[in-house]
Parts: sequence; C-alpha cells; structure tokens
Amino acid sequence: MSRSNWKAELQLRDLDGHQKLELTCKECGHVRTVVVSDAMESMPGCQLYLDEIESRAKCKKRGCKGHVRLALLKSRDTSAFVGGLA
Ligand SMILES: [Zn+2]
Repeated sequence: MSRSNWKAELQLRDLDGHQKLELTCKECGHVRTVVVSDAMESMPGCQLYLDEIESRAKCKKRGCKGHVRLALLKSRDTSAFVGGLA
C-alpha cells in the first residue's frame, strides 16, 4: 500500500512561500496552521523534507507535545476550504 511518500519527496523550499501547512496533533487533535515562509525561518537550513518536519514538529498546546500529522492546505484553488479551517 502507498504510504505518504509525497512528504518524503517534497522539501520545504520546494513549496510556495505562501503555502500553508496544517499540523494536527495525533494526541489531542489540536490544529495549527503554519505558512511555509514562517516554517523556514523557524527551521534553519530548510533542506528538510516534509516527513522530517512532521516527525520533528510537536504539538504547541501546553503540556501536550504530541506528534503531529502534516498536511498541505491548497490555498490557491480552494480558498473557501482554507477559510473554513483558518
Ligand atoms: Zn496535542
């Protein structure tokens, strides 16, 4: 079965700076949206693949620090969809 290989083939720098990433905590379900340009600033080097980011990122909710699931928000062609999550 196919795993999420696209995350292992895409680097942060390959994405549009305005692209949004959605990080959903696997523990508590807390959802955090991060813009690619902001993520690059907070992760020096920015040669990270998305699956590495996913494995490094931690939930920001106080006291949780759970692992997160990373997803891309399609901001360009589905603005209504993104608006619902913002
Ligand atoms: Zn959490």
